[in-house]
Amino acid sequence: MKYVLVSGGVISGIGKGVIASSTGLLLKTLGARVTSVKIDPYMNVDAGTMAPTEHGEVFVLNDGGEADLDLGNYERYLGVTLGRDNNITTGKVYKHVIEKERRGDYLGRTVQIVPHLTDAIQDWIERVARTPADDTNEQPDVCVIELGGTLGDIESAPFVEALRQLRRRAGKDNFLQIHVSLVPVIGNELKTKPTQQAIRDARSAGLSPDLIACRCEKPLDRATIEKIAMFCQVESSEHVIGVHNVNSTYHVPMLLEQQGYLRVLGDILKLQQTVQIPREL
Ligand code: ADP
Repeated sequence: MKYVLVSGGVISGIGKGVIASSTGLLLKTLGARVTSVKIDPYMNVDAGTMAPTEHGEVFVLNDGGEADLDLGNYERYLGVTLGRDNNITTGKVYKHVIEKERRGDYLGRTVQIVPHLTDAIQDWIERVARTPADDTNEQPDVCVIELGGTLGDIESAPFVEALRQLRRRAGKDNFLQIHVSLVPVIGNELKTKPTQQAIRDARSAGLSPDLIACRCEKPLDRATIEKIAMFCQVESSEHVIGVHNVNSTYHVPMLLEQQGYLRVLGDILKLQQTVQIPREL
């Protein structure tokens, strides 16, 4: 099983969901079976009790699960049918661990965030990643995980630790992290400092982004890409992907692919061993 984690820094609402869905769609074009998990680090068990005026509409899944709109994006982009377990919230995973504790499953041990909650998060992701999501009814090859919110929030800390450990569990060539950041334009200048800080925050939490997706009002110039690659210590400038504002978010997959995105993903995840990559890539 291969995992692609999409996390975000600087501010929320910069397009993690769109980048995660687009990544899944592009992987699908290679012939990979793709599923997804959305992590929402809020205490609500699901989005069903949240005011639509504050949170947007609730997306109702086939099994009746009430989730964030992102799950709808995934279903549309990936052609999959997801269930309530594809959305993990803090409330849902705590409830799961507390129910296990009440049943006596922990055999009298002290139940802690690390390792019990973090193990439960990893087990949950692994189980959902293996659940068939499309009409072939076969196990997916890749699971795209979107970590909602911004890295560094108190709320997301147990998930960050669980994902750090999941990278080790998944093993070499099976886990890739894309960190989505913001490159603000001040005057006419593209500013890279918030991205440098966001990557530093990710690293201090034990995560190591392989790719940086930079959301920006306008296309990134070569010098900015080189600067981000150098200061954020990613392998090459190909690992910095510009995501400028577009009229329709359905253009984002093409925007990513024009920058050699699939080739980079394929190289990191050794996808040629999993799926048949067309020769021209
Ligand atoms: P996040 O998951 O980080 O909260 P979303 O993916 O939900 O962000 O995107 C937030 C908003 O920004 C959405 O309304 C989305 O349509 C818009 N958006 C995302 N990427 C782009 C882009 N490249 N150009 C224009 N709008 C975008």
